[in-house]
Amino acid sequence: MRAWRINWQTIAEKNRAFAPQLLEQNIRRLRLAAPWIPPLNLMHIWLFWQRQPESANEALWRQGILAAHTGMLVFFGALALAAWYLASRPELVRLRQISVNVAVLGTLCFAALISAIDQLVTSNITPLLVGCSLTALVFLHRPLSALWLFSLTLALFLFGIQQTQSTPAVLLSNQVNGLSSCSIGLLLAWLQWSNFVQINTQKQRLQDQAQLLEEQNHKLSYLAEHDPLSGLLNRRAFNGIVERELLRCQRTQQPLCLLLLDLDHFKTVNDRFGHPLGDVVIKRIAALLSSQVRGLDSLARLGGEEFMLLLVNCDREQGLQIAEKLRQLVETQLQEVDGKDVAVTVSIGMSYLDAGQSGTYDSLYVASDRALYSAKQDGRNRVKVAAPS
Ligand code: GH3
Ligand code: MG
Ligand code: MG
Repeated sequence: MRAWRINWQTIAEKNRAFAPQLLEQNIRRLRLAAPWIPPLNLMHIWLFWQRQPESANEALWRQGILAAHTGMLVFFGALALAAWYLASRPELVRLRQISVNVAVLGTLCFAALISAIDQLVTSNITPLLVGCSLTALVFLHRPLSALWLFSLTLALFLFGIQQTQSTPAVLLSNQVNGLSSCSIGLLLAWLQWSNFVQINTQKQRLQDQAQLLEEQNHKLSYLAEHDPLSGLLNRRAFNGIVERELLRCQRTQQPLCLLLLDLDHFKTVNDRFGHPLGDVVIKRIAALLSSQVRGLDSLARLGGEEFMLLLVNCDREQGLQIAEKLRQLVETQLQEVDGKDVAVTVSIGMSYLDAGQSGTYDSLYVASDRALYSAKQDGRNRVKVAAPS
């Protein structure tokens, strides 16, 4: 009982979830199918027009068929135009829905009507079978709508043949045949619908997986380029950026500076306050440095308590000013962290390339390291500069 209820719920959810795709498919199919009908109607009209009736019944039949096909000609001609217009206008949802409903209902009504008219002279109900099959194959129907639709068609057909078929045995046979035709329509519609739901569920799953993969790729490339503790660029990403920027600055004749920053006596901070607090200090320093650099500049944590900063379009004097400002900020703003008197300071070694001067990343790195060593030697908490050799 419970499983039965869940099944209906799932169907209802899928109905809702796939409603936009369903409408899109139906309007596309209507645009393709509708133009086929008017030429067929014209052919019928021409053939029946030629035919001279041999009895009163035949005259009535001819008249009925001519009227029905003229009606269909106008109806499907208008629908073909509407579908052609609506196919490229997804925003007109209501109008699209109405057109599809009108097309489906119209097709089935015409099929039932022509079959009923045919009963005036013949016992065949081919138009009903063709109409039901075509409607079920061309359009996509939700199961419940299909049930209503084919039941309504059957009711119309049964009422119609009651008026036109006078032989009781043929009437009975065609009542049963009508029921079979509508059941076939219902079955085909159901098969089409399950196929559609299955394809769209798989499509949805693939889309979800592709999206998940994209998100994971995004995360992976972030992890590959960033340091997890500070959130700054890691050494690998920074190296790539420096190589690129170096070439760009030399091509555009811009000066640049490379700063190597190393926290002073950081081991003591860890020893005194523990590694967790040391981590907090590293994060705070990273945030402080990030807040000071321009969008053009690149900042990385090389590892441990060492950072590197590339300042592009920045000459020696500007570089020294920035380095000094950073040193002072660390000294003043990292006196206290989480209520602990950490009193962190930083030593900075800087190297530079003047505008138009050529040099390699390696030579800049070696010069910055030399300058940093000199800053440490001279008592720490200071900025030193060295030119690349
Ligand atoms: P100096 O002034 O000469 O640079 O002294 P220092 O103590 O900073 O230098 P040293 O290189 O000897 O020590 C660096 C310390 O940084 C050692 C290590 O405990 C600490 N460290 C490295 N990575 C991390 C980290 O991710 N978290 C924490 N909390 N500490 C780290
Ligand atoms: Mg160090
Ligand atoms: Mg250090």
